[in-house]
Amino acid sequence: MIGKIDHIGIAVANLDQTLKLYTDVLGMSLHGTETVADQKVKVAFLPLGDSELELLESTDPEGPIAKFIAAKGEGIQHIAFKVDNIEAALNEMRAKGIRLIDEKPRYGAGGAKIAFLHPKSTGGVLVELCQRD
Ligand code: ZN
Repeated sequence: MIGKIDHIGIAVANLDQTLKLYTDVLGMSLHGTETVADQKVKVAFLPLGDSELELLESTDPEGPIAKFIAAKGEGIQHIAFKVDNIEAALNEMRAKGIRLIDEKPRYGAGGAKIAFLHPKSTGGVLVELCQRD
């Protein structure tokens, strides 16, 4: 069911500043940025082989990324697994007793259909299921 790691989401306080680390120092290429109003984030995409890193800067002090940084500091916020059929994957997770944050998929960065599983059910890791058509 899980295809690959689609992306890793990293919470950053200052996107422009952190981007310099990933591009100038680590030598990765910036593939673009997008503001996702629904999640109150600005996202920078750094493709890396068959997956990518997504740097996430909050656009709102009440947004999930701002709250994450306030509680835990900057760092890895979630891991996204690629699935072919997100509705089927959510039904399977629900049937297996996994607590869902999103009962239904919503649209994330890059137009992907996404849904989060609750870290209390997944060993402390915020897991995102991600379907790209
Ligand atoms: Zn994500």
